[in-house]
Amino acid sequence: MLDERMKTLIREMPKGENHIHIEGSIPAKTALRLAKKNGITLPFTTEEGMTEYIKKNVVDLNSFMVCDRMINSVCIDEEDYYQVLYDLGKQAYDQNIIYQELHLDYPLNEVRGIPLDVVINGYEAGRKAVMRDFGVEIVFIAGIDRSLSSEQCVAFVRALEPYLDIIDGIGMDCEEKGNPCIKHVDSYRLAGEMGLFRTAHAGEDDGAYNIWDALLELGCQRIDHGLRAIDDPKLMDYLAENKILLAMCTRSNAFATHLTSLADHPIKRMMEHGIVCSISSDDPPYVGDLIQEYESVVEEIGFTEKDVIEVARNSLEYSIKGQHLLPRFDTWVANWLKEA
Ligand SMILES: [Zn+2]
Repeated sequence: MLDERMKTLIREMPKGENHIHIEGSIPAKTALRLAKKNGITLPFTTEEGMTEYIKKNVVDLNSFMVCDRMINSVCIDEEDYYQVLYDLGKQAYDQNIIYQELHLDYPLNEVRGIPLDVVINGYEAGRKAVMRDFGVEIVFIAGIDRSLSSEQCVAFVRALEPYLDIIDGIGMDCEEKGNPCIKHVDSYRLAGEMGLFRTAHAGEDDGAYNIWDALLELGCQRIDHGLRAIDDPKLMDYLAENKILLAMCTRSNAFATHLTSLADHPIKRMMEHGIVCSISSDDPPYVGDLIQEYESVVEEIGFTEKDVIEVARNSLEYSIKGQHLLPRFDTWVANWLKEA
């Protein structure tokens, strides 16, 4: 059970978020409004209907991606992408998120024929408006769809060249099994040459070997998820010694992997081993928002107040460019502890 003190800490503490996908996070209200504007029929007509639809139809990674693509199809023009970003920024503000690294998964827009500049320019306008109206700082990570060919992904990374003042990092998601990190070594080499921060989803539904490849072959500076590192003691040591951030999403892991319950999640054992972890929501309409993620790690995994503050601090200290927010975070926490 969460006591009032923990509830208040989770809600009011200024937080960063390192791992959330724009396309998988479109709020129900936004999706419905854009569907109406663009004359697109969705299999639900109310916000509650979308929640019900997801609950009934999204049961694994595959059905998640089908639903994710269907909801994302409401975005057609620049204004739509702007609106999605703006509404996400408002949601972040409401949770006291002050810094957010958003994965932008262009390939699922590309298959619908939407030009890259429409998506990026819409999101960028949204980012500026979010900063202006809510003071939430947003950083973009462009996601590779690992199920596509190496050549397609290299072409995607190359296409980011004109947007290097907007995009700060490169990531990789979609089905890990059958699409090992090593398949995209050329994309990551190119991204490194372009000066992009490199991260990859690895060790979520496939083994620890994929995390090693992401780090040593792809030059990743961070791992998204990475929970299978728990199977490899050498990797556990390597992650701890090199202070590699694992951007974890425990509720999402419980949904998408073999974990039978959240209590089995290895995040606490990893932190006890000295590994730097942060927690994020991944895709809020499917697994809950960041507040729910924080509440879950306390209720289901046994996080203490110290653990909660530690992962929140990590989300800024080990972020791509949110370190300047650490003094604000530390002052807030010092006041919190003093008033306790
Ligand atoms: Zn993810």
